[in-house]
Amino acid sequence: MKKAIFSLLCGMSFGIAAAVHAQGLHATMFVKVVDAEPQDSLGAFFYPYKLKVIQDFDIRPLSCDTLSLKLENFSFFQTLRAEGDPDFALIPDMNVCSRNGQAPYHDTDYTFDGANLSIPVPADAATHIRIEYGYYSDLCFRTHIVPMGCGLLQYDFGWNSWYFKGDDGHVEFDKVAFDIPDTVCFFINGESIAEADGTVSLDLAQHRYDDISFHIADKKWYDPHPVRIGDIRCDLLLSKRDTSEVENEIPVPLAQLPDSLIADRKERIGRIIRSLHGLFPESKAEEFTILEDDLRTEDEKYAYGRAVHMSDREHAVFIDRSYWLDPSLTHELVHCFLNYNYDRIDARYFFDESLIEYFANYVYYPDPNERDEAFAAKLEYFENLPGDKDISIFDISRNYVDTRSGDGTHGIVYHKVPARIHEFAQKIGTERFHEAVRKFNLRLEQGDAPDFEDFGRILRDSGVSEEDWLQFVRSI
Ligand SMILES: [Zn+2]
Repeated sequence: MKKAIFSLLCGMSFGIAAAVHAQGLHATMFVKVVDAEPQDSLGAFFYPYKLKVIQDFDIRPLSCDTLSLKLENFSFFQTLRAEGDPDFALIPDMNVCSRNGQAPYHDTDYTFDGANLSIPVPADAATHIRIEYGYYSDLCFRTHIVPMGCGLLQYDFGWNSWYFKGDDGHVEFDKVAFDIPDTVCFFINGESIAEADGTVSLDLAQHRYDDISFHIADKKWYDPHPVRIGDIRCDLLLSKRDTSEVENEIPVPLAQLPDSLIADRKERIGRIIRSLHGLFPESKAEEFTILEDDLRTEDEKYAYGRAVHMSDREHAVFIDRSYWLDPSLTHELVHCFLNYNYDRIDARYFFDESLIEYFANYVYYPDPNERDEAFAAKLEYFENLPGDKDISIFDISRNYVDTRSGDGTHGIVYHKVPARIHEFAQKIGTERFHEAVRKFNLRLEQGDAPDFEDFGRILRDSGVSEEDWLQFVRSI
């Protein structure tokens, strides 16, 4: 029986994002990826690796007597797992110390309730406070989703905090460096610079996100297969975990994958990327890593996927294996080709998710009849969801699904609006619609911050009537 798997596409969140941009608190951060320690409560039973994080805060501008820091959001899955089980702390060991100028560090008192860290600033005129702690990745891949064995660890700030910020939600980093062992692949949401000492630092001048997020993948679980599609390079990292061995306590990577599976994956990725390159030849995306694993809930209701934009050129996409068999992988790849800058455009969920999902289905279903059926099924799915049907995409402040009740705005973002876009594109001419998207992208690229009204203007300039445009706007 085919199970209906709900894809947790990468734009969805489980918490309310806080974005306070106060100025002042400066810090540096050093992150070392080390082998997990079996004596920790989580330890090596769940994780092959943990982080050792050092955050150094320069407190000279502070005029208060206490440094208040916080971990601002917790993973939905972590919260579930931690309910009633205090041993499941993500932070197994913490130490706080301070110093004045170049004097040696000495231990400093602090209180930490699992979210808020309060450090009285020592009376001896300390200038720096250092926090050292161990940190395990979110639990979702390993306990709620898969018992163990998956080699992908996420430190994704949108999912849960892995470093401390000021209690106003802000910290300004002057340097962020990573020490990564050769046994893992490293994917971060920004350009990285290889340092002479073997560490990697984040190019903070180029970094365009509020938060620093990264993933590491344990190489022993993945079989690398480079694919070349024209000028585009793609590294497939195919899972070597035997899906029939999910219940096995100590899984062992497969020695080799079946040739037919490798050929199938290569063929699929070639087809998708050729189509996307044909649609968006101006895109700078030219290097991809696509990592597959079992990233779905035990009840098979939810599957995880995410695109990480390392630069305009380079992207990493992590997917559950089921993503190969529906438009979900294509969705993540469209994100890479249409790499919208979230902060600069209005109608955020229209551009950054609904339009992406429209193109994902357009590409995934090249046959026009199958495509029509797919979009019709989306509308039907939306109509059958509980809740208010009259909410516009422009009135949504949050893109989410409650994985327990099924409530949320996902029906509007991923089902209703993509289907309406398809109807509209067919009405005005699909090629005309796609050309308007390309023109809009070009203006974004040129930095003149076009908005949704500009998108409408581009369409009307191409011959779409005012009436058709307004009818479309009302329909979404
Ligand atoms: Zn998405």
